Amino acid sequence: MQNNEFIKGLPNDLFIDGKFAPALEGGRFDVIDPATEEAIASVANGSEADAMLALDAAERASAAWAATSPRERAEILRRAFDLMMARSEDLARLISLENGKALSDARGEVAYAAEFFRWYGEEAVRQKGSVSVAPSGTNRILVEHQPVGICVLVTPWNFPAAMATRKLGPALAAGCTMVLKPASDTPLTALALAQLLDEAGVPAGVVNILPSRRSGSVVSSMLHDPRVRKLSFTGSTEVGRILLKESADQVIKTSMELGGNAPFLVFADADLDAAVDGALIAKMRNAGEACTAANRLYVESAIAGEFARRLADRMGRLVVGPGTAEETEVGPLINQAAVDKVDELVRDAVGKGARTLNGDMRPTGTGYYYQPTVIDNIPADAAILQEEIFGPVAPIVRFDTEDEAISLANATEFGLAAYVFTGDLARGLRVSERLESGMVALNRGVLSDPAAPFGGVKQSGIGREGGHEGLLDYTESKYIAVDW
Ligand code: NAP
Ligand code: MG
Repeated sequence: MQNNEFIKGLPNDLFIDGKFAPALEGGRFDVIDPATEEAIASVANGSEADAMLALDAAERASAAWAATSPRERAEILRRAFDLMMARSEDLARLISLENGKALSDARGEVAYAAEFFRWYGEEAVRQKGSVSVAPSGTNRILVEHQPVGICVLVTPWNFPAAMATRKLGPALAAGCTMVLKPASDTPLTALALAQLLDEAGVPAGVVNILPSRRSGSVVSSMLHDPRVRKLSFTGSTEVGRILLKESADQVIKTSMELGGNAPFLVFADADLDAAVDGALIAKMRNAGEACTAANRLYVESAIAGEFARRLADRMGRLVVGPGTAEETEVGPLINQAAVDKVDELVRDAVGKGARTLNGDMRPTGTGYYYQPTVIDNIPADAAILQEEIFGPVAPIVRFDTEDEAISLANATEFGLAAYVFTGDLARGLRVSERLESGMVALNRGVLSDPAAPFGGVKQSGIGREGGHEGLLDYTESKYIAVDW
């Protein structure tokens, strides 16, 4: 067993106005290690009253922070990147403990998460407006980008660091102040980031972190406070719909990174080794708990049997165990409900005639584990093709033509990520353009990149995070009509 004593030295209170403090009403909640099902920390449970204190702090800090030079904000972000890299091992261990993911995944997440600080440090000083002559010739059109103002940021548990820095980085670069509410399954990483940003020189009140089990009422109270100008939410489509409605009351600017149901297309002309490698990463990174995870694998009939056999072999050899053990490749899922949901989807498919190639075990014992599973011969009406699996299960469906593959892939309300494997680049680009998704990985199993616009179409979301677009989402365009 690992020594997890270091958790005791980490912050576990609310972070408001540059200080860690317990919740006003004094409540706390436990954070559970998914590998042992034991509590590893007790965290302050923020209330609506704490949310108002956080907004007060964000408001006080707002004008001065917006007035800092872009260079100053850039240097702070760069220091945050350096600090994060210097502490990457500790942070990875923390992520692994509270989320369950394998250390190798957690290390990958820390590097990815830190890069949002570096990238947005670099973007902070590249904020361009424009000047043009009005078509009538009577005046100039001047456009500049101003910080949107106070932001409410709400993040999920599956990437406790990266989903936070993907919002904190651009909001800081743009000159906004903010209150972040992390998922209550994984609040410790966000609190560790608060400490790190404080050390990097972020002034008091600019970033406030508000763990809370009362997410509905706490977030709602902030969305109904006239000082709030922006909501950036990453989480399920179900909760996203609720928050879009709540945001309507005060016409708050929203960015929504919601659920996915990514199709993974393999054509018979693909490099089969590359396709299997890609599928393994796209399916198994984070034990399948990623919004970009390959959810439905559509494979051309001629190679489907061989593809399924190879993927099942690779998935069956993955080492399942506690995330913090060095040899582990697949950690436990986040909680019992996640395991139950995955199991239910597998049962439904098998009940309707699908065949499991490996896995297919309801795990027993301690920890929220699910065995990596490949399922072939999935009937079209299986729930697993419509819902986000969020676990280590790969359903395989056969197709015969390009048009059929595209229509199967697009037959979902989601549209976040898609994957295409083919040896024919023209086909790859043609298919990529016809897929209804915000992002496509062509002959690759990974697509997330802080320098690229990440986001979905259809019910997978609104807006983009990452790239220059991610910065613009934290600004408003100010148009000034000028005569001179
Ligand atoms: P979730 O249940 O929607 O929760 C996300 C966040 O919203 C958490 O902080 C949660 O707090 C909070 N929340 C829950 N109910 C709320 C309410 N009524 N009002 C305000 N806030 C509320 O999602 P999750 O289970 O944590 O994460 C998994 C989902 O996130 C998946 O659907 C996945 O696809 C999606 N995701 C999307 C992206 C993307 O970029 N598109 C990235 C990662 C994950 P509590 O934890 O306290 O309930
Ligand atoms: Mg949840």
